Amino acid sequence: MTNETWGKAREALQAEVGPNNYRNWIEPLEFADLEQGVARFLVPTSFMGNWVERNFGAKILQAMNENGAKVTRLSFVVSQPAASAKAASAPGVEQAPRRSSGRAEDLPGAPLDPRLTFDRFVVGKPNQLAHAAARRVAEGGPVTFNPLFLYGGVGLGKTHLMHAIAWEMKARDPSARVLYLSAEQFMYRFVQALRDKQMMDFKHLFRSVDVLMVDDVQFIAGKDSTQEEFFHTFNALVDQNKQIVISADRAPGEIKDLEDRIKSRLQSGLVVDLHPTDYELRLGILQTKAEAYREQYPDLVIADGVLEFLAHRITTNVRVLEGALMRLFAFASLVGQEITLEKAQDALSDILRASDRKVSVEEIQRKVAEHYNIRISDMVGPKRQRSIARPRQVAMYLSKTMTTRSLPDIGRRFGGRDHTTVMHGVRRIEELQAKDPQLADDLEMLRRILEA
Ligand code: ADP
Ligand code: MG
Repeated sequence: MTNETWGKAREALQAEVGPNNYRNWIEPLEFADLEQGVARFLVPTSFMGNWVERNFGAKILQAMNENGAKVTRLSFVVSQPAASAKAASAPGVEQAPRRSSGRAEDLPGAPLDPRLTFDRFVVGKPNQLAHAAARRVAEGGPVTFNPLFLYGGVGLGKTHLMHAIAWEMKARDPSARVLYLSAEQFMYRFVQALRDKQMMDFKHLFRSVDVLMVDDVQFIAGKDSTQEEFFHTFNALVDQNKQIVISADRAPGEIKDLEDRIKSRLQSGLVVDLHPTDYELRLGILQTKAEAYREQYPDLVIADGVLEFLAHRITTNVRVLEGALMRLFAFASLVGQEITLEKAQDALSDILRASDRKVSVEEIQRKVAEHYNIRISDMVGPKRQRSIARPRQVAMYLSKTMTTRSLPDIGRRFGGRDHTTVMHGVRRIEELQAKDPQLADDLEMLRRILEA
């Protein structure tokens, strides 16, 4: 039989199975050869081969025989890399080396952001492990943990790492079928497929990828049929030894309304969390991003201490930090002046205020009292001995630098003290900080505790 005969047979099949089925199942078949009555076809996945054989096998045989070929049996050969050979060798489906048919473009994933690469990901203690795991997955090679489950609060870099994995894998192997999408998009596609009666397409598509990444999986909690489908997709890919990367805002066990079997499946690979940023990481990120801006705007100057100030004060998440920096550079390019600490405070007052809401004077008093092992009532009480007065001044200083409260306001919260007393306390700590390393350490540690 020649390709021409197959062409005729295909035409006959088109009329037979209808345009949708034809497009999805017959057209992608690549005729390889016919030997001793066995017609061999190349298919992208074993799933597809099995499906076609079961559902259209008889029709294909018939169409071929009616169009002049003598075929007694069909055989479907998966064209994919040898590494995952074991996984795809379902009965009746043989293996063949992958042919670079370049099918990666037709995946309906979410677009990848070109800025979210490993190059631009700043590594620090809080995200070290997640970064290392993401790197490992991106290297490809044998699947060692499946899935990789990344979790952590908003803006800590989960999506960034997932995009970075996708970029890296595509760079290493342009024909790799990497599918990245949010759990919400997964659900949307699923519902759409149900509605349009295209479930087989849906299943086929999600089972034919080399890597599946689903972002913010907590979204499918409580959505039963989507969960069910996700579970099957997940299992099918794991069985094929295909890498899966999942993210969520919390650990698998803590996602409410998620089926237990899914939780345990999600836990079966490597679970790593992105911890809240620490000061060093925030500063690192700011410096890296400021460097990038500087290339763009070589004339802009940010005074020493401004980035440090931002790293101290904006502790909510990296996205806010980035927004603040962008605003600073926009501001600087508008006014064409050096950005001093004062101007930065001005330009960012709303962001600073919003981040401040996290730490209250009361909280500062509580933590400082705990740290120095004094009573919280002494913070606001009248005692004047050093062992009490010093911690009180530390708390005043932190209240002044970590919140936007005014001096009189702070005074009121320290047992109705006068604002000059607060000012004196703040000054005293500023002076001592330079001379007394122990105090400097205390302050640093308290700041960390309060920011966490
Ligand atoms: P998440 O998905 O965890 O909510 P994202 O990955 O969307 O967070 O990160 C929010 C923003 O912060 C993005 O612009 C991202 O590039 C940036 N970001 C987060 N962590 C880092 C990091 N370690 N280095 C550089 N940029 C980061
Ligand atoms: Mg995200």
